[in-house]
Amino acid sequence: MIQKIKGTMDILPDKTPLFRYIEGIMREEAQKYGFGEIRTPTFENTELFVRGVGNTTDVVQKEMYTFNDRDENRSISLRPEGTAGVARALIENGKCSDAMPLKYYYIISCFRHEAPQAGRSREFFQFGTEMFGSESPAADATVIALGASVLRRLGLTNVKLHLNSIGCKECRPAYREALVSYFGEHRDEICDTCKKRLDTNPLRLLDCKNKECAELAKDAPRTVDHLCPECAAHFESLKKLLDSMGIEYVVDSSIVRGLDYYTRSVFEFVAEGIGAQSTVCGGGRYDGLVEELGGPALSGIGFGMGITRVILAMEQLGLADISAPAPRLYIASLGEAAVEKAIAIVERLRRSGVYAECDIVGRSLKAQMKYANKLGADYTLIIGDSEVESGKAQLRDMKNSTQSEVSLDDFSI
Ligand code: ATP
Ligand code: MG
Repeated sequence: MIQKIKGTMDILPDKTPLFRYIEGIMREEAQKYGFGEIRTPTFENTELFVRGVGNTTDVVQKEMYTFNDRDENRSISLRPEGTAGVARALIENGKCSDAMPLKYYYIISCFRHEAPQAGRSREFFQFGTEMFGSESPAADATVIALGASVLRRLGLTNVKLHLNSIGCKECRPAYREALVSYFGEHRDEICDTCKKRLDTNPLRLLDCKNKECAELAKDAPRTVDHLCPECAAHFESLKKLLDSMGIEYVVDSSIVRGLDYYTRSVFEFVAEGIGAQSTVCGGGRYDGLVEELGGPALSGIGFGMGITRVILAMEQLGLADISAPAPRLYIASLGEAAVEKAIAIVERLRRSGVYAECDIVGRSLKAQMKYANKLGADYTLIIGDSEVESGKAQLRDMKNSTQSEVSLDDFSI
């Protein structure tokens, strides 16, 4: 028996309505905020992610699905995230000289070789948004508002916005030094990975999931205390905008985000009570990315929202019971002529936009009625020889237990 790859999932028809409901809200909200859908390839040249996500990140170093193309000897990777591909696409399609801002969204699968657990899989689904071409804090506020709006519409009152600024190229060196000096004093207490991070990417130390490291990170120097005047003003302005838009947040200096390209604003929407994988959405500003990928200096900001984590948060509040619609009508039939009649009526109703069902497996009449009940049909109709002959039958309203006679050839429902 061949089984699915560890860390992937089958989503069966009893669960797809929940996914479609969530994705529908994501699409509607994106549209209201003026974001157009973009679709980019599932796999790209590995180099794109090395440059776009960052060589020192866990994603690139440990988590990418990388392989050699069959006919051309080049390295390809399944996308571990969506931003790099979108940035490449807008450069490649000449969008960088369009009227700004550019606003894109996508709903995609991403692939990371991680330890599978609740809220963490190797293929996962993400709603992502990207806005390019505005450095204004109003762009940050708009992107954050879109994320908040999706979560609000899904009813997720258990989710909180955590906000931070990690500064820019100007403020980073001084902060980096303060961080290296702080963790350097605690070198014996940090994990082996963080010992390496101390040299390669000290900011990542703040993101470590190891208990001792996380404990030390609490008292580490804060980026917000090391911002250059421009970054400080940008952050103040963003907070004021969020206040005026009625979007609640907490400033959280532990938020640094896992990818290399972030500058200034970083944020996470965190759900309470769903376990260790509690970040349902993470994002931030990445002003250097487009240039890094060979395009013009074009600022950007966006987020990725994990759909399965959104579902965990919805389950926590009992909001995840979304089922497929029940049939409007179930036609039970007895005898060959009745089956023929039933399938013709069902087809006529389906063409007029109504979801209707009839028996096609040859159940007994009793079993058909039981099945109609299981499906939760609003109405049932029983057709036997006499109904075929008279062209009339009793339409039964299952909720009110009432009946009325209908003409089989032209009734509507
Ligand atoms: P985490 O710290 O949880 O590993 P991350 O910083 O790696 O998250 P991003 O790269 O910013 O996450 O991805 C954006 C969002 O995608 C996350 O906030 C999360 O909701 C979701 N996500 C990331 N990795 C996974 C995964 N392996 N399985 C399911 N969802 C994921
Ligand atoms: Mg991760």
